[in-house]
Amino acid sequence: MSLVDLHTHSSASDGELSPAALIEKARALGLSTIALTDHDTVSGIVEARGAAAQAGIEFISGIEIEIDFEPGEFHLLGYGIDERSPVLVEAVERLAEARHERNAAILERIAAAGLPLDTAKIAELSRESYVGRPHLADLLVQARCARSRQDAFDRYLGKGRPFYIKKSCLPLDEALSVIRAAGGIAVVAHPYSLFVSKAMLGKFFSEWMEMGIGGIEAYHPTAKYGQCVILERMARERGMFVTAGSDFHGKARPECGLGRTAGNMSIDRRFRDELVGALARHAPRRG
Ligand code: AMP
Ligand code: ZN
Ligand code: FE
Ligand code: FE
Repeated sequence: MSLVDLHTHSSASDGELSPAALIEKARALGLSTIALTDHDTVSGIVEARGAAAQAGIEFISGIEIEIDFEPGEFHLLGYGIDERSPVLVEAVERLAEARHERNAAILERIAAAGLPLDTAKIAELSRESYVGRPHLADLLVQARCARSRQDAFDRYLGKGRPFYIKKSCLPLDEALSVIRAAGGIAVVAHPYSLFVSKAMLGKFFSEWMEMGIGGIEAYHPTAKYGQCVILERMARERGMFVTAGSDFHGKARPECGLGRTAGNMSIDRRFRDELVGALARHAPRRG
């Protein structure tokens, strides 16, 4: 049986493994296709693509962008993007700048609260293209202000907690035009994180399809398998394609094993075929 993974993170964003190490793990597990979907950055793609070519694994470039949305979180996956696209590069630079400012504001709050954080480590982290709350959570753990990354979110960094500052996100129409300009197609990641009723989800899916979103990531480890089947049906009813992913981050999220999704199900190659088919219809020159 040939397995795939269509939603993974490397150390280019908040994953544990370098892009090459991620591909090596995929090879060791026998995956035939992998998509790299780091948050707000394309900086891991070249390394991952090269490693995948060496390992004989099919590689799909990707990104995961947070969209301005209430009440929950809206993550948009862009697949088959050309990471050199000037429109994409400019958007990613803008997101990095906004992150930088937000991190500085969060760190000010932490300092004002008198928590002892190691500023040298922060300076070191800030040199990388993506620093987010998961990294700040790790610093709180290292400073013994929290027991784990999750504990740091629960106590300090999560929505509604004292060090939470809203991130400036792209509006959906802008994110879609960036993905389109880079030759990619858009998929709604883990729709239950949107935190809306099924009736509302249905309305949103229809609206977003009109706007150009092609697919729904129906299968994600944070949802129950039966709930994912419902999402798949909702997508199919609208003629959208369906994907599945692990959202692999490494040790920080042990529940998200590479190549596995909701209900610990192995991710079947049929999901890859749907995505690659959609990409081929969308941009026939793309491999
Ligand atoms: P940021 O983009 O800096 O706001 O960080 C977002 C990332 O933080 C998400 O992709 C999750 O990995 C993580 N995260 C957000 N909220 C929580 C939470 N309540 N508990 C644990 N991790 C979270
Ligand atoms: Zn992440
Ligand atoms: Fe996500
Ligand atoms: Fe993700």
